[in-house]
Amino acid sequence: MRLQEIIEADKEKMYETLQELLRIPSVEGESEEGAPHGKEVQEALSFMLGKAKEMGFSVCDFDHQVGYCEYGEGELVAVVVHLDVVPAGEGWTRDPFGGEADDTYIYGRGAVDDKGPAVAALYALNAIRKYNQKLKRRIRILFGTNEETGSHDMAYFFSHGGEEPVMGFTPDGTYPLVYGEKGIVISTMRKNYVQGDSFPKLKKIQGGTAFNVVPAKAFAEIECGNSVYENLLGYANSEIRVSRDSGIVRIEALGESAHGSTPEKGRNAVGLLLSVLKEVPFDPSLASALTFLSEKIGLETDGKALGIGMSDEPSGALTLNLGTISGDETQLETGINYRYPVTCRLEDCAPVFNAAFEENGFNLVSQIHEPALYVDPQSTLVKTLLDVYREHTGDDSGPICIGGGTYAKSVKNTVAFGPTFPGDPDREHKPDECIEKENLLRNAKILADAMYRLAR
Ligand SMILES: [Zn+2]
Repeated sequence: MRLQEIIEADKEKMYETLQELLRIPSVEGESEEGAPHGKEVQEALSFMLGKAKEMGFSVCDFDHQVGYCEYGEGELVAVVVHLDVVPAGEGWTRDPFGGEADDTYIYGRGAVDDKGPAVAALYALNAIRKYNQKLKRRIRILFGTNEETGSHDMAYFFSHGGEEPVMGFTPDGTYPLVYGEKGIVISTMRKNYVQGDSFPKLKKIQGGTAFNVVPAKAFAEIECGNSVYENLLGYANSEIRVSRDSGIVRIEALGESAHGSTPEKGRNAVGLLLSVLKEVPFDPSLASALTFLSEKIGLETDGKALGIGMSDEPSGALTLNLGTISGDETQLETGINYRYPVTCRLEDCAPVFNAAFEENGFNLVSQIHEPALYVDPQSTLVKTLLDVYREHTGDDSGPICIGGGTYAKSVKNTVAFGPTFPGDPDREHKPDECIEKENLLRNAKILADAMYRLAR
C-alpha cells in the first residue's frame, strides 16, 4: 500500500483517538509530584504515549515535561505538538470536553489547537512505520505539555539534555508555512508623581485586560471643579462617556478589541481615554506623563512617534499595543507589547523605546523578550515542506511571517507548518472549537509526506 492509503485505511481509528484525547480536560493545573503542569495534562500525555506504545513505538516520558515516540535511526527530524489546551471559556453549544462527533466534525477544546494535529502526527508516523521503507534519519514526535502557558516544557527539555533536531516542524501555526515570527517584547513602565491638594486630581485610571489584547474599555475617575467637568462634557461622543456622581467625574472610553499581534485591526480604548485626559490641567508631573503616552502612542500601532517605526521586507512593520494601564493618586503603570520585524534585533528598538519613557520620568519595571525567528526561505527544510503542501493542495502561495510566537521559537531548526489552511475559519481558543474529519485526514497525509521526505 502507498503511504496515503495506509492513512486512509486507519482514519476511523484516528478520529476515535482524537475524540478520546479531547475528553481529557488538559488545561494547566496545579503542579504536583509526577505532573508538573497538573494531573489532567499528565493524563493526556500518558494517553498519547500509551497509544504510541500500542502501535509499537519506543516511547519516553521526559520528567513529565515532554514525551516522545520515535521511529528509525540516524540524525533527528522532530515534529512538535502540544497536548495542553486553553480553558473552555464561555459560549459553547457542545460539551467542550465531551469528544463529540458527527459525520462531518469532531468537537472539543483542542480539536485544532493542538490535539487534532498531535493525533494526526501520530497516525502519520504509524503509517510510515507500516510503509517500512529505508530512511536515513530518525523521526520523533515531541508531545509538549505547556505551550499555552509559557512553553516551559521545551525550555526544561532542552536545558536537561533533550536532543535538538537537525530539522523539524510544528503543526501549530498555519499553512503554507511560517518562516518568520516577529520578536516580542513586553515592557511594564511606571511613573510616580505627587498631586497636590488642589483640583483636578486623578483618583483612578484603568484599562485593558492583557498586554496582548487591544483594550476595548478604559476609564478614569477624577475629582475636579465645575469648569473642568463642563469642559470634559464637550469631549463626549460615541466612544467617550462623561458622567458625575457625588463629586467624582468618570470618563469612560469604548474602543474595539483585537489581538495584540494585529493591533491595527482594533481601536485602543486607552488611547481614546488619554486623548481626553491630556486636556485636563493636572499637576505637571502627572500631566506630562499623560501627554507623553497620548502623543507618543495614543492610537498609533507602529511605534513611529516613539522612534521605533521599523519594518522589513519579509514581515512588514513593527507593531505596538498599549495593552494595559492602571493608576491611582500617586502612580501610573502601563504594559506595552511590541513586536519587531523578523530580521531586526532587540538592540534595534528596546534602547530607543526605554529612553523615550525614561526621559518622561517612567521607570522600566520589567521587560520580557522572545527573540524573532527567521529561517531562510531557500533552506531545504522550507523548500521540502512547501513542495509537500503544494502537491497536496495545488496552492502555490508563498510562506509567510507572523507577529505571534509558536513552538518553533522553542525548538532549534524548526518552522510552523499547518494545521489550518488559508481561508479556514479561526477556531482556536474560541467556543465550539472543532475540526472537519476531512481536514484532519488531509493533515495526517500532509504530515506523513513531510516527515517521510525530511527523513528519506
Ligand atoms: Zn497551539
